[in-house]
Amino acid sequence: MRSRSQDELCVVCGDKASGYHYNALTCEGCKGFFRRSVTKKAVYHCKSGGSCEMDMYMRRKCQDCRLRKCRAVGITRPENPELNHKLILLRLRLCSGAILRCP
Ligand SMILES: [Zn+2]
Ligand SMILES: [Zn+2]
Repeated sequence: MRSRSQDELCVVCGDKASGYHYNALTCEGCKGFFRRSVTKKAVYHCKSGGSCEMDMYMRRKCQDCRLRKCRAVGITRPENPELNHKLILLRLRLCSGAILRCP
């Protein structure tokens, strides 16, 4: 039987989780990896067609699958610059419409 208190494992790689980061229980490594990937808008390429089993070994080998797994388990961006950008554009459009109507 597993002891419950030790069961806090990273949902991405199975390493010991350090807590909830970006909506998911992850380790420090995956948290940092995800943040870096998003910040740099990194694009990775899997050598095995995106079918790597993610674990503590593979997370170093295939960043593509690691990032995919991050997204698959529901990790969301800390801030979403693209979405924010779209919202700003949308708001600008709405505002300019309002401005046109208002003298
Ligand atoms: Zn991890
Ligand atoms: Zn892979």
